[in-house]
Amino acid sequence: MSKIRKTDAEWRAVLTQEEYRITREKGTERAFSGAYWRPSGAQGSYHCRCCGEILFDSDSKFDSGCGWPSFTQPADGSRIEEHQDLSYGMQRVEVVCSRCDAHLGHLFTDGPEPIGLRYCINSASLQFAGKAERRHSDQEDEHKSD
Ligand SMILES: [Zn+2]
Repeated sequence: MSKIRKTDAEWRAVLTQEEYRITREKGTERAFSGAYWRPSGAQGSYHCRCCGEILFDSDSKFDSGCGWPSFTQPADGSRIEEHQDLSYGMQRVEVVCSRCDAHLGHLFTDGPEPIGLRYCINSASLQFAGKAERRHSDQEDEHKSD
């Protein structure tokens, strides 16, 4: 997979200030403040805000109550990288987009069984894309011709 590399100025041009702070400067949005922490039941995929790569599927999203969107697993293990993060005197695993190195959030081991993992991700690092609704209009038109 080819890496996407942009200068800070180029990232700033395509991201909001908050998105830039979180994805490019390893920031964290306030709990319960983002767009996706709330369980919605919406079916679709969560893409990297920076490069558009599919990172998580709605099927793996769960309500952790922590105030950030939480997932049990990535859509594909190769889409994310895990780095050791020793900042703030804590030992954590940072999760980044493998394609553009965007900071996504952290990985914890208090997720639901049987996997036991919780990918705790900033909403600002994600862009949700709902599954396309099936169009029934063609069939309906056929019935109307009766
Ligand atoms: Zn990315």
